[in-house]
Amino acid sequence: MGIFYNFPAEKDMQCDVKLFASEKIYDEIEDTALNQLLSAATLPGVTAVVGMPDLHQGYGLPIGGVMACSTDGPVSPGAVGFDINCGVRLIRTGMQADEIEGRRQEILRMLSGTVPAGLGEGSSLNFSRSEFREVLAYGVSALPGLGLAPADAGQNCENEGFMAGADPDSVPGKAVNRGIDQLNSLGSGNHFVELQVVASTDDNLPLNEGELVIMLHTGSRGLGHEVCKNYSQQAKDKAHKYNLKFPRKNLAYFPGQSSEAEHYLKAMRCAANFAYANRELLMRNLEETWREYFPHSRLELFYDHAHNIARRETHVIEGEEREVLIHRKGATHLPPDGIALIPGSMGTASYVGLSMNSEQTGLSLESVAHGAGRKMSRTQAKKTISYDRHRQSMGEVKSTSSSGENILDESPLAYKEISDVISSLTRSNLAYPAARLKPLVVLKG
Ligand code: 5GP
Ligand code: MN
Ligand code: MN
Repeated sequence: MGIFYNFPAEKDMQCDVKLFASEKIYDEIEDTALNQLLSAATLPGVTAVVGMPDLHQGYGLPIGGVMACSTDGPVSPGAVGFDINCGVRLIRTGMQADEIEGRRQEILRMLSGTVPAGLGEGSSLNFSRSEFREVLAYGVSALPGLGLAPADAGQNCENEGFMAGADPDSVPGKAVNRGIDQLNSLGSGNHFVELQVVASTDDNLPLNEGELVIMLHTGSRGLGHEVCKNYSQQAKDKAHKYNLKFPRKNLAYFPGQSSEAEHYLKAMRCAANFAYANRELLMRNLEETWREYFPHSRLELFYDHAHNIARRETHVIEGEEREVLIHRKGATHLPPDGIALIPGSMGTASYVGLSMNSEQTGLSLESVAHGAGRKMSRTQAKKTISYDRHRQSMGEVKSTSSSGENILDESPLAYKEISDVISSLTRSNLAYPAARLKPLVVLKG
């Protein structure tokens, strides 16, 4: 029996809440985050709520939170979050990591010169309105037709890089205006491009020890942000129309069958498609310059998936097979036999996890942690982490931030120990670490 904490339904709670964490990780979780998770269970129509070991405080639903709702139950923009389809992509290079030894600083400069990154930084591509709508509607599958990606671009990507049921007409004008110049850009802060070496791997993965891989972390930029902001505000404003009371204002929701809920989901899928396409375009953009440096290298997608998204899925909940809307906020879908990319921090290891296909896989709504998770808030990190301690925690890793700001709030010291999070997942029978990736060069947004 894998470990998890069960909080039985009491008072207004509609269902139990399960938290998948070791004792050590559990002790580190702030009450505010846990209370946010418990609040989610009070929404009428919620059928299951699950927390991951990287749980920390978020907007409405905590990061590391998963909420399943019946089809006529809540649809909550805040429970998906601002960076819709923020996600991770892992790219193989066909190179050995020792080929970049002695050139790390040079390659870091190449990355900062090549990857459009930083707050508000635009893209080098100019999309017409109609091309942009194609991307919103069809994600990665729109790119080959626009001459921006090879025909098989969706291969090895979750959902083939495309969520059906997206309608660009549901996306607020302001979101389109912000997004159109940002498609093919990394963004700021926590987003990154990182060169890593495969430090260890098991036979269940095609990776080789010593291989050089590239991990990319970004999402839907200003477009997703505006979609969340706009619809979250609408949900608050329309509470009286549907006679709803929210346990927390940022958990505001629309009733499942309402027209507003449908509009939000159609817009959210557009943002998801933007993000899948954004990660693909960033990879293609980098590939051009990369091949000038390493002509023998081929960039090949290993896997790409979302960690902020709502999806209709079928799960067995309390013994009954049910169609539900799963909100995952800072949590990754890991179906049986599936792969999960689990970043740690810019100074520690990241992992490729594989499903343990256990009873807990179902209980977790097929979810795992999306990373190490924050140990402290950005403000707290900037206040308490000294530059010296931060440098020490980075070891030999070469890093820079395109925003040019000090990045103490992104320091490895601001995040939980990834090894604790991974061992929580393994002890809970959810995922085991099939490969361990070590950072060499990091460009932060
Ligand atoms: P989030 O999407 O919540 O901002 O971040 C996802 C996870 O990525 C974090 O919980 C953290 O564990 C991890 N992470 C943040 N920055 C970096 C980085 O620069 N490199 C790597 N490998 N992981 C990071
Ligand atoms: Mn993000
Ligand atoms: Mn993210």
